[in-house]
Amino acid sequence: MNGMRGVRAHPVPEGIDPDDWTSWSWQMQNRVRSADELARWVDPSPDEIAAIETLSDRFHFVITPYYASLMRRDDPECPLRRQVVPRSVEAGDPAGLADPLEEVLHSPVKNVIRVYPDRIAFCVNNECALYCRFCLRKRMVGDLEWTMKKRELGEALDWIAATPEIRDVLLTGGDPLSYSDARLEWILERLRAIPHVDIIRLGTRLPVTLPYRVTDELCELLARYHPVWVNTHFNHPAELTTAAAEACDRLLRAGIPVGNQSVLLRGINDDPETMKELCETLVRMRVRPYYVYQAQLLEGTAHFRTPIEDGIELFRGLRGRTSGFAIPQYVLDTPFGKVPLDHPWAQGRDGEDFVVEAWTGDLWREPNPRR
Ligand code: SF4
Repeated sequence: MNGMRGVRAHPVPEGIDPDDWTSWSWQMQNRVRSADELARWVDPSPDEIAAIETLSDRFHFVITPYYASLMRRDDPECPLRRQVVPRSVEAGDPAGLADPLEEVLHSPVKNVIRVYPDRIAFCVNNECALYCRFCLRKRMVGDLEWTMKKRELGEALDWIAATPEIRDVLLTGGDPLSYSDARLEWILERLRAIPHVDIIRLGTRLPVTLPYRVTDELCELLARYHPVWVNTHFNHPAELTTAAAEACDRLLRAGIPVGNQSVLLRGINDDPETMKELCETLVRMRVRPYYVYQAQLLEGTAHFRTPIEDGIELFRGLRGRTSGFAIPQYVLDTPFGKVPLDHPWAQGRDGEDFVVEAWTGDLWREPNPRR
């Protein structure tokens, strides 16, 4: 992947054995968990040091050395650093909720979320390689109460087997790839044995935060249970490294379509140039930009939320200026499911015509048959 435009080279840091650095278990064991450990990679600001001290018991502060090595040392506004290092502003968000999508109310059995008749999100794991400050599942990730015991995983799988409408299962969490290959295979084997389950999807941020987890062995394992789809979660072009691109390439070569879901984050990716660069580089990596979520009304995240009108304008600005399939759908997730937040390109019937707005702003009248 060296030399792909928009993809960053990232040398192994000095003093670390390359075999250790590229081992996912080494990365997990050597995660940054304190301001002192963070100081190896960046110069923490007084605000970051204070927030790590006071806020990490509300929501975990853990970062992989790999992701920490991508952050800018002397810039607290670094778009990667802002995603994972606590800031005191998190304490002042009176409107934020713990569970804005009412996932707990939509749960027929522990850690299964059913909003649609034919699809479920199955939170198989509450652990992640790092914890994102804007995480929708802050209430549960990293929290022992939500850990799935094998018996509980079995109960959820039994519920899926007894619910014939379920056609599409999203394994999520936390991060399903935080599991060992053996545990993951146990789940996949049980799911594949259920005749009405067509599609198995995995939602994982590990290609972004710990790409060495995506080993050849893992890809071979996933390919045994096709059709398997993966959606990952890049938010910023600075996350697109050679290691991340190689991880996506390994998944693709195993026949696994890879999509990307981002969150629109104020001051991080809510400007047209950053979003365009992110999406165009993902397409070069053969990763399809799929959704961009409006940041939820989630506790401690007011500083991340962009006005929805600005988001609509941003994606309107991409139309006509890049390939159509490089433009993700901007959506608001609600307790009733996802709602597209599109600019109204289709203006409606006017007499015998249907009026549409082109990306240039010109109006076009298309003769339109009556029903
Ligand atoms: S990787 Fe995903 S589930 Fe884990 S903390 Fe980040 S957003 Fe939440």
